[in-house]
Amino acid sequence: MTLNHGRHTLAIPGPSIMPDRVMQAMHRAAPNIYTGELIDLAATLVPDLKAVARTKHKVAMYIGNGHAAWEASLVNVLATGDTVLVPATGNFSHGWAGMAERLGITTQVIEFGRRSALDPALVAEALDADKSHKIKAVLCVQTDTATSAKSDVAALRSAIDATGHPALLMVDCIACLGCDEMQMDDWGVDVMVAGCQKGLMTPPGMSFVFFNDKAAEIRAKMERVSSYWDWTPRADPEQFYQYWCGTAPTHHLYGLRVALDMIVHEEGLEAVWARHATLARAVWAAFEAWEVGGPLELNLANRAIRSNAVTSVRIGAPTGTQLRNWLTEQAGVTLGIGLGMATEEDPQSDGFFRVGHMGHLNSHMLLGTLGSIQAGLNALQIPHGGGALEAAAQVCAAGADDTADLTVGASGSCCG
Ligand SMILES: *Cc1c(COP(=O)(O)O)cnc(C)c1O
Repeated sequence: MTLNHGRHTLAIPGPSIMPDRVMQAMHRAAPNIYTGELIDLAATLVPDLKAVARTKHKVAMYIGNGHAAWEASLVNVLATGDTVLVPATGNFSHGWAGMAERLGITTQVIEFGRRSALDPALVAEALDADKSHKIKAVLCVQTDTATSAKSDVAALRSAIDATGHPALLMVDCIACLGCDEMQMDDWGVDVMVAGCQKGLMTPPGMSFVFFNDKAAEIRAKMERVSSYWDWTPRADPEQFYQYWCGTAPTHHLYGLRVALDMIVHEEGLEAVWARHATLARAVWAAFEAWEVGGPLELNLANRAIRSNAVTSVRIGAPTGTQLRNWLTEQAGVTLGIGLGMATEEDPQSDGFFRVGHMGHLNSHMLLGTLGSIQAGLNALQIPHGGGALEAAAQVCAAGADDTADLTVGASGSCCG
C-alpha cells in the first residue's frame, strides 16, 4: 500500500509549483506573432518585471533558462581577458564563475564555503588591493540555492562604494526574485539576472537581465557582443521580434502575464515577500525542533543569512536520499537533492536534501510537506526532536494575523 495517490507536490528549489491559472492561460491555440493581442501583451510585461526587480532601468527578456541569463549578463559587459571578483557562497556562485571562465574571463574567487554568507569586508579588501582596476565586476549570488545562504546585497554595495572601486555589481536573483527582498535601484545593483520558473511561478523557459545606465554605458563601449545575446535591441525593440531575436515564446508570455498579475497587481510584492518570510520561518521552526537529538541539521545555523526561498538540510549519508525516496514514493512530495555538497565520504551528496518554498505556496501546502517529512522521519526511525509541526503551525497562525490580505482575489486558492 502507498499513500501517495493524490496531487504530487514538488518541493524542490525550482521549478516551483505553477499556479493552475498560469497553466490555464498557456493552454490555447497558437497566437499570431505579427499583429494583435500578443504584441500588446508583451509590452505590458516590461513594467511589471521592473516592478518586481524594483528598478526604473531596463530589462532584456531571453528565451532560455537561468544559465542563458548568466551568459547574457556576462557577454554584454565583459570581454575575454577581463577579471571578475566572485565572493562564492555555494554551487551557483561557482557555476556563474565557471561560465565566465569559459568566456576567457579571469575569475578571482573569494571562497566563503558552504555554510556562510559572504563578508562584504573581504570583498572590499580585494577591491582595495586592485589598484589598477583590473576587476571589472563583482558577481554575487543573492540566494545560493545549494547552500540556501542569502547575501546582504545592500551591505555589499556599501562596502564596494567605500573603496571607490568602479567595478560593476552584478547579482544573480534567479532563486529568490519574488521571495527575498530585492531593491535593485536603491541597493545600487548594476546588473541583475532572474529566471521565470522559481519565484515568478512560470514554467522554465524565460529569463531576464536587468541593467542600469552604468552597465548600458559599458555595453556601448564593448568592441563586440554577439547579436543573439545583445541586450540593447531586446530592451528597446523597434519591432516585436527584437524582444526575442526571433520568434516569441508565445505561450510563456500568457503564463507570465498571469503570474505577474498575481504577484504585482493582486497580492502585491511586499505581501508576497511577507508571505515567504512567514513560510520560511515555519520551515525553520520545524527543522530547529527536529534538529534536537538526531542527525538532522540545518545547513545554516544563523537565521539572518537564510533565504526565504529554499532551505538546505544535512542529515548524513545515505539517510538524506532514503528520506527523499520515501517521501516521493509514500507521501507524494518530492524534496530537492543536495547540490554541490559532495565530500570524500559522501560523493553523491546523499546526506543532504533541500526544501523549496518559493513561488505559489500557502501554509496548507507547506504544512503538508512538513507533516510528510515528520511521517518519513517516523517511518524510517530517524531520531529527531519533537514539537516540530506544532512549532510550524504556530508560526503560520501568528503570521496570518499581519498578512490578512493573503486571501485577496483568486491567488489565495491553491492547486485544485
Ligand atoms: C536555478 C538557479 C540557476 C540556474 O538556473 P537554470 O534555469 O537552471 O539555468 C542559477 N542561479 C541560481 C541562484 C539558481 O537558483
